[in-house]
Amino acid sequence: MADHRHKRDTTARLRTTVPTALLRTAREGVRGPSAQPGRTARVAAPVALGLTVGAVGLGVVVSDGSPDVGASVADAAAPASPSGSASAARRPAPLSRDADRSEAVSSAAQRQAAQRAAQQAARRAAAKVAEAKAARTRAAVAAADTHRWTTTALNLWDGSGQDARKVGLLDPGAKVLVTGRRANDRVELAIKGRSRWVTAGYLTATKPLATPTARAAAGGLSSAPCPNGSVENGLTPGAVAVYRAVCHAFPQITSYGGYDAHGEHASGRALDIMTSDVALGTQIAEFLRANAARLGLFDVIWRQRIWTPERAGEGWRTMEDRGSATANHFDHVHVSVR
Ligand SMILES: [Zn+2]
Repeated sequence: MADHRHKRDTTARLRTTVPTALLRTAREGVRGPSAQPGRTARVAAPVALGLTVGAVGLGVVVSDGSPDVGASVADAAAPASPSGSASAARRPAPLSRDADRSEAVSSAAQRQAAQRAAQQAARRAAAKVAEAKAARTRAAVAAADTHRWTTTALNLWDGSGQDARKVGLLDPGAKVLVTGRRANDRVELAIKGRSRWVTAGYLTATKPLATPTARAAAGGLSSAPCPNGSVENGLTPGAVAVYRAVCHAFPQITSYGGYDAHGEHASGRALDIMTSDVALGTQIAEFLRANAARLGLFDVIWRQRIWTPERAGEGWRTMEDRGSATANHFDHVHVSVR
């Protein structure tokens, strides 16, 4: 490679140091009278003689078998039209270019082959890892023998990672088999022989109808007027239906907030159910969640956590701190309809 580069350098120097304009002038001088005889032609003749010797000398010195140099000298010395000779002299020697190209092509081919081999090895390694993972999953699914029930509607995912796809939805109260594996806040279920993942925290070991909330949900919702009818002022029919269902299911609640000039309340679609009792408030929030579809709910907020039917499978989501017990919904359950 170093030798080759040296040859190319020599050629380049030869091309630039042989002034082709002088060669042309010299040829014209040797050939005889030029178009404009005079001082130029007379002076040019001795220059041409010296130059020829010089060029031959150079050829001998650098001519170490390289076709590059020979071609270059011949090229520079060949007769040509005055206008074309300069560019002809600078034209690269074709043999050298071809040699360069074939060498470049073969080293590029070697690089590509090496790359392909590395890629194939990486693919084989990745396939091995994936197969081992799939085998562990098959074993976990086959061994699953523990029953649980869902406490809410749950999205089914085909994996536990961020790239998992949603592949279905489980109804509230659905009986499922768990594998015992847990990852990234999801737990694995065995459903029809397949591995499926749901958000952790929404499975129970007891049948859901054993809880009062579930009984209320299963028993239907009351639409009869409540003792305090004034709460309904300014509410949409949907919000009125929520109020009536709640007031009959939880008669112990005595204070409500309805229409208000702020937030979701300004549209008449929201209701505040006033309680600071954690157990009672939680029962109400879960009651609303269980009946979200029937009541056409938009969201439920309780103790700085929000649940929406749209993102039901994510369960209760933590909200930012808004600064006070009321703003963070520690003293009331907020619910709104679509
Ligand atoms: Zn509210």
